Amino acid sequence: MRTACLLGLLALPSSASAQSQTPAPDTIEGHLAAGKAAAGGRDNTPDFYGLVTAICVAPQRGAPPLDAPAPREDPDRKTTYLEPKKAFDDVYWMGTRSTSAWLLTSNDGYILYDTAYVYDAEDVLVGGMTRLGLDPAKVKYVIVSHGHRGESGGAYLFQSRYGARVVTADWDLIEGSVYGYPTGKPKRDIVATDGMTITMGDRSVKLYLTPGHTPGTISGVFTVRDRGQPLTVFYSGGTEFNFPNDVAHFDQYLASVRRQASLARESGATIIINNQSQFNGAADRLRMLADRRAGERHPIDVGAEAVARYFKIEDECAQARRLQISAAPKSQ
Ligand SMILES: [Zn+2]
Repeated sequence: MRTACLLGLLALPSSASAQSQTPAPDTIEGHLAAGKAAAGGRDNTPDFYGLVTAICVAPQRGAPPLDAPAPREDPDRKTTYLEPKKAFDDVYWMGTRSTSAWLLTSNDGYILYDTAYVYDAEDVLVGGMTRLGLDPAKVKYVIVSHGHRGESGGAYLFQSRYGARVVTADWDLIEGSVYGYPTGKPKRDIVATDGMTITMGDRSVKLYLTPGHTPGTISGVFTVRDRGQPLTVFYSGGTEFNFPNDVAHFDQYLASVRRQASLARESGATIIINNQSQFNGAADRLRMLADRRAGERHPIDVGAEAVARYFKIEDECAQARRLQISAAPKSQ
């Protein structure tokens, strides 16, 4: 019986390690299938269906123009704004159905990681902190993972009202935007560099340049405490394919995905988070905290193997799109 069980396990082709060891056929369909398979099981294993939907099933194509129309106030804010949450002992989540912003506290001031859309920032971030009993004036650093509107929209508010320092590598994108900042554009401040550490009290965040989603996308590594235990987080700075869809841009994106995967592995990250809550199910998973039992793992602490699968989804589905582009007939 014992031998039969063992053989049965060995014969299972669907384990994650088997997935990562077996190279996908180098075809569009092969890479898409491998990306979807890396989402995880349908039962108890962590999964990333939101990420698969965003980049494998219905990927965005092409960069938004610098003169894209100005953002509008969200007419559905009553249903899209979600209750802010204490995510870890020393980290809070504030967001909507599509965006995540994370507040990293310390024994001194706070670091705000991403800043929602411009018209959401007042209610979701300032209002969110107030509802959580936190003082928004204690935000001393704002890290903007990249210069799109859902990440940089509230940066000016914290810079102008509270004097927070703004850290990003996408200043050119922000400065080039014509209508993106109707309430004021954040002024160029700290330029993120590779390996830079942002320190606030007993808290630090290490930043890495991971261009691709935008020219200045940055990713970060930091520690959080969960019921007193330290856990390592990898913050992936940019995800979707809304950049110029040519082979060179996909090569840069793929290089950054692979670098993120190795940085996450080397840092021992068991948590993957980012700026859009649907990619890792952050908003839904955080609601599970309310009835978490003693000894149960934190719902966002998915483990190093799942973190590796997150990047495999990005890798495989970017390869699929890259192949699609190189196979397409050239237009005149
Ligand atoms: Zn973006």
